[in-house]
Amino acid sequence: MNTPPLRLNKNITRIKEEGAFAVSDRAMHLASQGHNVINLGIGQPDFLPPKHILAAAEKAAIDGPHGYTSPTGLPVLKQAVASNLTDRYKTTVHPDQIIIVPGGKVTIFFATMLMGGRDSEILYPDPGFPPYLEAIISCGAKPVAYGIKEELDFSFKAQDVLSLITDKTSLIILNSPGNPTGGVVPRAEIKKLADGLEKFPHVTILSDEIYGQLIFDQSDFTSLLEFEHLRDRTIILDGWSKTFAMTGWRLGYGVWPIQLVEHVRKLITVDHSCVNGVAQMAGLAAINGPMNEIDEFVKSFHQRRDLIVNGLNAIPNITCKMPKGAFYAFPNTQKTGIPSKEFAHRLLEEAHVATISGDAFGNNGKGYLRISYAASQQELTKALSRIEKFLI
Ligand code: PLP
Repeated sequence: MNTPPLRLNKNITRIKEEGAFAVSDRAMHLASQGHNVINLGIGQPDFLPPKHILAAAEKAAIDGPHGYTSPTGLPVLKQAVASNLTDRYKTTVHPDQIIIVPGGKVTIFFATMLMGGRDSEILYPDPGFPPYLEAIISCGAKPVAYGIKEELDFSFKAQDVLSLITDKTSLIILNSPGNPTGGVVPRAEIKKLADGLEKFPHVTILSDEIYGQLIFDQSDFTSLLEFEHLRDRTIILDGWSKTFAMTGWRLGYGVWPIQLVEHVRKLITVDHSCVNGVAQMAGLAAINGPMNEIDEFVKSFHQRRDLIVNGLNAIPNITCKMPKGAFYAFPNTQKTGIPSKEFAHRLLEEAHVATISGDAFGNNGKGYLRISYAASQQELTKALSRIEKFLI
């Protein structure tokens, strides 16, 4: 059959699918064939959302809201998110700045759509969450990578990021705690960056803080909301997926500068109209409800982190920094001599442990693997011994 000469948008044909989903599909396929697969590939908590959240969803499924909600979200939910942020960061966030969206990713897409375009440059972290680069390419902007460095405990030097800004730079994407490394950018460096940005008033900041409540060792996680002088050009990305173990619910929010809200609202009415009411009511119960189960999730991730990182460091030719947040370990596998793509591929096919090759997160991820340790301690112990055997 001849392929018709369709005029596809080249920006879209250039983008790549996020690798974690393909690995997950393959892991599920191997499992369906009877293999005992340990899935450390996909980045999602292995807990159920707390019961009060499920009960709120059940009630909303019967009682509603059943129709469209306001495009930017239910007012009661926006109010609850704004109060929550105001309490957490001792700053004032207005409910009109909150935009409820179907998942954290949507805020990335809207921010790049809004700030991108052919003549703009967007800075993004490498290694970093793959949709940043693909969203930048989709909107036609020029991607400019800044390095996330192992020797800086998977952080960056503010000066290195500032030195990449030109008069075409429209947006800087930040992510701390970071995917895929679990690195947390120290407060001093965020402060230097925030101070340095005063010289570049044309630059908007998108701070992806989706792992902001999954931090260990009283790490000095810093929200960009703490910098009042940048507030009129800072977008915060957060959501329910990771904190409340609600990845499949597709519920996230952005905190937007007031002058950008009308543009995002237009995009929503063109794109998805609103988020479904059941998910929003569940999100409201999560934000207003007790946090004791979430504290238990974090404790459990902490123990698992120690287990997997200490275990990886005991395997010859692998070294792994202790991550300070999220639920990812990013071991350096260069000394094994096996290229990371081959390592991840063979580890899944031969040892049935799913991980993601570091170069799926950018050029600087070459020579690393991403391990999502959102799995039981028993499974993590088994995975460690399979990795060790695989390398003999
Ligand atoms: N930001 C980062 C850094 C992530 O790792 C993820 C999910 O993996 C997201 C955003 C998107 O989250 P969601 O599943 O809510 O779209």
